[in-house]
Amino acid sequence: MKPELESLLQLQKTDLEIRKLLSEKEECPKRLEALKEQVEEEESYLKETTERITQLNKHKIELEDELELENVRLNKSQQRLSTIKTDREYQAVFKEIEDIKRANKEREDEILLTMNQIEELEKEIKSKKEALSQLQKEMEVEQKQVDKTEKELSKKIAALEKERDKLAAKVKPNLLTKYNFLKDKRQGIVISNVTAGVCSGCHMNIPPQLFNELLRDERIHVCPTCQRIIYADREKENAKA
Ligand SMILES: [Zn+2]
Repeated sequence: MKPELESLLQLQKTDLEIRKLLSEKEECPKRLEALKEQVEEEESYLKETTERITQLNKHKIELEDELELENVRLNKSQQRLSTIKTDREYQAVFKEIEDIKRANKEREDEILLTMNQIEELEKEIKSKKEALSQLQKEMEVEQKQVDKTEKELSKKIAALEKERDKLAAKVKPNLLTKYNFLKDKRQGIVISNVTAGVCSGCHMNIPPQLFNELLRDERIHVCPTCQRIIYADREKENAKA
């Protein structure tokens, strides 16, 4: 290989490694983020359910107060019943008593229903709280793991970046400019091996004339299809010929 490509190839190798580590660093908090989202959902569900219980309790107290007042009224009416003289008045008070009793029965049923609902929701809250505390524990463990991994990756990346700068200093400026220009456009692979006339970067044939030049001269060539800087293993290719 042409010596000036050796350094560039090493630079590319280092850059690819940095690229890989950067993407690992970006991926590593994904699970933590998902856990955080889950915790937030559970917390907001718990808040809503707690509010619902508060409302149901309020409703239950209102019903109980009504029931108490109506029972007082019922007692009064029942006492009045024994003092009534006329049949017509008796019928009226009797009907009133029956009405109160019926309405109170409905209140009692609703109080029971409300109590059942509260009980169900409280059970649900209990199990949700346990699940939430489990999730929070998981989140703490994951957070520690993410911090550790991020720290390690940052350290590795910093070391590689130093190495990268040293390697870049060895590459001729015009070649380096070309490399830097293509790097992001070609997913980090700028230098490409050509085997049997095929560019390994884009898998296209390069013209035979160019391939011959690549094997013979010392100039830097690029693939006409993908513009990558190309090289060939001369010994191997010449042995085939
Ligand atoms: Zn190509």
